[in-house]
Amino acid sequence: MAFTLPDLPYAYDALAPVISEEIMRLHHTKHHQGYVDKLNNAVQKYPDLLGDKSLDYLLTNIDSLPEDIRTTVRNNGGGHYNHSLFWQVMSPKNIVGQSTTGSSQPYHNQPSGELLNIINDRYGDFNTFVEEFTTKALGLFGSGWVWLMPNADIITTPNQDSPLMLGPVEPILGLDVWEHAYYLDYNNDRSNYIKNWWRVVNWQFVQTRSRK
Ligand code: MN
Repeated sequence: MAFTLPDLPYAYDALAPVISEEIMRLHHTKHHQGYVDKLNNAVQKYPDLLGDKSLDYLLTNIDSLPEDIRTTVRNNGGGHYNHSLFWQVMSPKNIVGQSTTGSSQPYHNQPSGELLNIINDRYGDFNTFVEEFTTKALGLFGSGWVWLMPNADIITTPNQDSPLMLGPVEPILGLDVWEHAYYLDYNNDRSNYIKNWWRVVNWQFVQTRSRK
């Protein structure tokens, strides 16, 4: 069974002005579609061995895959997994205000319940968590991802590597810091992209993942 591009759970322009329609359309229909297509091409070389394997299986067993497709699955299977999660951890419903520059407003968009307790236990308060996550995102050289794990660890992966390559624990929140995720809107200002990205995090969805 071939892997397929999932639909966005909102319209392409729904996250504007935080993320423009142009970026969302390119990111979804070109970048993510490209990962899906290249993943399918690689897996289809081994129909008997890999034809019925899930994406989670491919990523958690990346080091045992046939060598000639291992890097392709790593980059494109990881890309498929990471982006499929990324679309879901964002939502237009918490966007407040129109400015994408210099916002000093407090982080009005926050988790609650058990997840907030876990974050508070680890970081003291939500704003400190946001600062630590942001610091890791800004410190990540080149292209990669920043993740919140169910135990409140914040980890980074390079390129399109997935946390599932490190172990069987799924991340609950992920931030794409490849330039293709923000350059058209923010140029090289990763800091401003991240500052605004917090406005569209779908904490209700992240909380459902933390309870799995
Ligand atoms: Mn991306």
